[in-house]
Amino acid sequence: MEIEQMKVGFMEVFCYIVACPRTKHALVIDPAGDEERIVARITQRDLNLQYIVNTHGHGDHTCGNAKVKELTGAKIIMHELDDQMFNYGSGSMMARQWGFTPSPPADITVKDGDTIGVGDASLTVIHTPGHSPGGICLLGDGNLFSGDTLFVGGIGRTDLPGASIDQFMKAIRERLLTLPDNTIVWPGHDYGVSPSSTIETEKKTNPWIRQ
Ligand SMILES: [Zn+2]
Ligand SMILES: [Zn+2]
Repeated sequence: MEIEQMKVGFMEVFCYIVACPRTKHALVIDPAGDEERIVARITQRDLNLQYIVNTHGHGDHTCGNAKVKELTGAKIIMHELDDQMFNYGSGSMMARQWGFTPSPPADITVKDGDTIGVGDASLTVIHTPGHSPGGICLLGDGNLFSGDTLFVGGIGRTDLPGASIDQFMKAIRERLLTLPDNTIVWPGHDYGVSPSSTIETEKKTNPWIRQ
């Protein structure tokens, strides 16, 4: 599984291109701006983009969905709860009010335990609600794409609509901190500490979860 990290958009979101080196099939996680640059990179690497996967439905992570889908024909995948909350009616309006292009409804919705495959690479969905109802992390080959759930040295906000601090801490403790220590953490934003981390480092140093 090949992983390429790109920092995109004015919210400094980390977008990831995950590809199978054998088949050249690929998916993109959170194409959150700079869509042309993302698609140019995919073309340059001769990849065949199958899916746009969102860690959650917030506009800062989904604002590039429409454009990337238009340019590549890739299908949008999101947890069913965030699809319902953010991609229709008032949810789309909220994205617009915050200055983001809303995402079209998901083509495929997922839930906990589902897998998303591209060639030989596959990612398992871990439902980690709390930052948003349908927030997910994606685990594959010892890599965790943690969206706005777990950051390097931080965790996501719990003061937005649909958030829950209790659900969030439970999900982080029971679903993420129980992963092998050497699991690589690829966060959803660049907060300047380090572009990636490990579960072991976060358990030892993240002030929000240090035990
Ligand atoms: Zn968010
Ligand atoms: Zn975010």
